[in-house]
Amino acid sequence: MTPSGSEGVVLVVVDHQGATVRTPALELLTAARSLGRPEAVWLGAEAPSAAVLEQLGAHGAAVVHHLGVDPSGMLPASVAAVLGVAVEATGARTVLLVSTFENKEASAHLAFALQAGLVVDAAGVERADDGALVTVQQAFAGTWTLRSAVTTDRAVVALKANAVPAEVVDGAAVPSVVPHDVAVVAATRDAELLQRTERPVSERPSLTEAQVVVVGGRGTNGDFSQVEELADALGGAVGATRVATDEGWIGHEAQIGQTGVTISPRLYVGAGVSGAVHHRGGMQSSGTIVAINNDPEAPIFEIADYGIVGDLTTVLPQVAAEVRRLRAEAGEG
Ligand SMILES: Cc1cc2nc3c(=O)[nH]c(=O)nc-3n(C[C@H](O)[C@H](O)[C@H](O)COP(=O)(O)OP(=O)(O)OC[C@H]3O[C@@H](n4cnc5c(N)ncnc54)[C@H](O)[C@@H]3O)c2cc1C
Repeated sequence: MTPSGSEGVVLVVVDHQGATVRTPALELLTAARSLGRPEAVWLGAEAPSAAVLEQLGAHGAAVVHHLGVDPSGMLPASVAAVLGVAVEATGARTVLLVSTFENKEASAHLAFALQAGLVVDAAGVERADDGALVTVQQAFAGTWTLRSAVTTDRAVVALKANAVPAEVVDGAAVPSVVPHDVAVVAATRDAELLQRTERPVSERPSLTEAQVVVVGGRGTNGDFSQVEELADALGGAVGATRVATDEGWIGHEAQIGQTGVTISPRLYVGAGVSGAVHHRGGMQSSGTIVAINNDPEAPIFEIADYGIVGDLTTVLPQVAAEVRRLRAEAGEG
């Protein structure tokens, strides 16, 4: 049996909100280009728009498979069953999804159904010289890097946001759309959606997808305005330690760490954060770590690439002002 990842179709499940493609899906398409022939999978009652097709094509999708079903209200097992239709139709040996909470569960169901190897929370994926698919994961709060070769014929990989930068292909063609009939499979819904409450829309990127995250801890003493100011100057998201969320200074959805969200942005800025092991577990695989703390002995400095010893109420506004100045100078508004 050929190990998974041998040349062929790489199916990329496109995360989208309405007609807006989420950036991590474009990152997956970029990653898929080095693994085989990327083909996108679009789940939605409506077919992707012309603008979406252009965007997916520009990032390497040769074909877009339209699974005509509204995924809202579908449990991950049903989503996996619907995705299985596209996998079987294309004969794809590799399926990539964005490593979100729901997608990880759907990945497990899909991998089980396909008897495929499964890797979730991958921070990288590549093809070895022998054609095997190799994934990279961060383990034990980012202190170990784990490389795994998938040995089964098929592989399902959930890749974390920001694992690779999204890059466009020069002169890419607009992909064709292949509709698939999933009505029968989709009918096997195991939950009925009774009510839906939309989260308030924030101008900021979502915490798990953001390339930049500015985090406030106990040192903020409850005032997150300067943390938010820097996050906005950098176009990033706002996160928090458990102390800050337990105090009610910010919602629990902002908590980063062992019992919160795991993030791996390109840039993490921690202000008034000590760097406790429970917090590190959710951020240690960030690309560049900047710490602002008035205690030079704070543990976060052990893992920081750049450290500023100082009072955050003095440092944060200065950094934000400098970022704004540099962005204005570079014409980034
Ligand atoms: C089972 C379990 C699970 C947990 N899960 C999580 C989790 O998921 N996420 C998480 O974050 N924590 C978690 N915790 C809590 C964790 O152990 C720490 O208590 C918490 O991360 C500390 O938050 P902090 O850094 O904001 O506060 P502190 O540890 O109190 O640190 C505050 C820091 O701010 C600095 N400071 C104070 N004033 C200023 C100032 N004006 N300017 C600059 N710096 C200043 C101080 O020097 C200090 O280093 C968990 C704990 C347990 C037991």
